[in-house]
Amino acid sequence: MQTKDAVKLRERWTKKGNPLCEHRNLEREFNSEVATGNYICTTCGESGLGNEWQKKQRSPEKSTL
Ligand SMILES: [Zn+2]
Repeated sequence: MQTKDAVKLRERWTKKGNPLCEHRNLEREFNSEVATGNYICTTCGESGLGNEWQKKQRSPEKSTL
């Protein structure tokens, strides 16, 4: 996904009221032809470094299983 498309996604998501997103589908971010190393959530447009950033976002509450 292109960076500019991610920006549009993010704007749309914000207009919806910025609902909670689990970032289930990540895509590599490209700036023109160049991969930025970031991965974008195709749902809300948020991006982060690497393809597991969304896991780190989950609040580290007690995970007693
Ligand atoms: Zn998301």
